[in-house]
Amino acid sequence: MTPLLLYNACMFDPLHTRLQATALLIENGRIAGLFIKKPQVGSHIQAMNIHGSCLIPGFIDSHTHLVARGLELQHSDLGSCASLNECLQILDAHAADAAVVIGYNWDESMWRSFDRDTLDRKVLDRISRRKPIIMRRVCGHCAVVNTVALKKIPRHWHIVDRRTGWLFEDAALYLNDIFKPDPAMEFKAVDLGINAALRHGITSIHEIGDLDRFALLQRVQRTRGLRLRIAFYVLVYDMDKVIAARFVNGFGNEFLTFAGIKAFMDGSIGARTAGLFQPYQGTRTRGKILMTRRRLADIVQRAEHHDLPLMIHSIGDRTTARVLSVLQQYADRSNRLRHRLEHIEVLDQKTIDRIARLRLIASMQPNFVKRWQHPGGLYEHYMGTRYQQMNCFHAIRRAGVRLTFGSDCMPLGPLYGIQGACEHPFPCGRISRSLAFHLYTQAGAFATGDERAKGQLRKGMFADLVVLDKDPRTIKTLDRLKILMTIVGGKVVYTRRS
Ligand SMILES: [Zn+2]
Repeated sequence: MTPLLLYNACMFDPLHTRLQATALLIENGRIAGLFIKKPQVGSHIQAMNIHGSCLIPGFIDSHTHLVARGLELQHSDLGSCASLNECLQILDAHAADAAVVIGYNWDESMWRSFDRDTLDRKVLDRISRRKPIIMRRVCGHCAVVNTVALKKIPRHWHIVDRRTGWLFEDAALYLNDIFKPDPAMEFKAVDLGINAALRHGITSIHEIGDLDRFALLQRVQRTRGLRLRIAFYVLVYDMDKVIAARFVNGFGNEFLTFAGIKAFMDGSIGARTAGLFQPYQGTRTRGKILMTRRRLADIVQRAEHHDLPLMIHSIGDRTTARVLSVLQQYADRSNRLRHRLEHIEVLDQKTIDRIARLRLIASMQPNFVKRWQHPGGLYEHYMGTRYQQMNCFHAIRRAGVRLTFGSDCMPLGPLYGIQGACEHPFPCGRISRSLAFHLYTQAGAFATGDERAKGQLRKGMFADLVVLDKDPRTIKTLDRLKILMTIVGGKVVYTRRS
């Protein structure tokens, strides 16, 4: 690969505030040097003037389902629908040519009325009684299917309401196991997902899936290479196989590594399945914890024994209390494996302090704030006044917790999430721009033990970089900021068309 010199750059390395360089040299896929002035270089080096644009470390998205997102992109996207009717019209339009009609990402908080209670299998039967019709909510934790689709769902799958056609948790999350995409679609999904990530300046992801997905990514890497770096967390239902294969965290190569095990302990706020101490606003439901103490204890003990970092999905306060009590008892006190808690949206100060004491990593999604935590939004609707105490990034950092940011693909895009954190509607959550960028770069590298290899503009690190059109420290609002270029391992993998 030809060495590359980027010059005339403004450089922003979130926690390295005194960085004064204006030029950066890339050799063999890594940062070979930083220079205050453009150095004289020979003709064997390609020099690129970036005209004062801002160079930052590539974004690390600490929580993705990128292949799943790529599959979604091949079906109907209901994310921008303003009513249930609009969703149904889109599905109806696709019913003629698809064998299985799947609509993703509906979000009742985008509808003119929040009313999703009229949605059931019979409504979908009106579109087709012959073809399976599936409508999955944006969180993935609930879905509604028509009668034909419902009949294909095995009797032993639980949290399936056979009367209404509503599916919750596993039944909604693993619908692909029944309505399987063909291999060509899966390969295409990887491409589509990666393209979307690169457009947003993401150079590394922490991806979640089962072993089949991991194998798919290995195959893609072997045949045509991966254009971004993937640390892969395997779903807990494949944990026995992971142990039998003797995988150890960090196994793999520069582009694809095995990173640990992902377990779900509850659902989501939007599906009203996250486990809370107090019921959801206006209901008697407190959500559902998906695993007993004993089962989780068994997973933690085996993870500790086999060196497998855990990524534990826990959103509600009641769920997180259970997770912490198990980790306190069974996990190593220094958290040498870097176990992490995903989402932990509802916490009180005592619980935050407990997370700090246990040295757990908090992996959170600032884009949820931007999307759902504004006054009158979905969180207020389902949580009441408690919504003011959710996603308290500032309080969590102040307590000394290691925090990292990811998108959960809802939507993908660090800049959108960073806005959510910097413009958090409540002081407990609002943080500075530098910190928000840090949490979307260097902090993600730490979570997978890669802090020496990426996340900063530093000599010797991977040349994973993003060029922004303006300096994010000085512009008035973040919403106009644009990604001009994404570089992974010294290779330009995305350029914005003007
Ligand atoms: Zn997720």
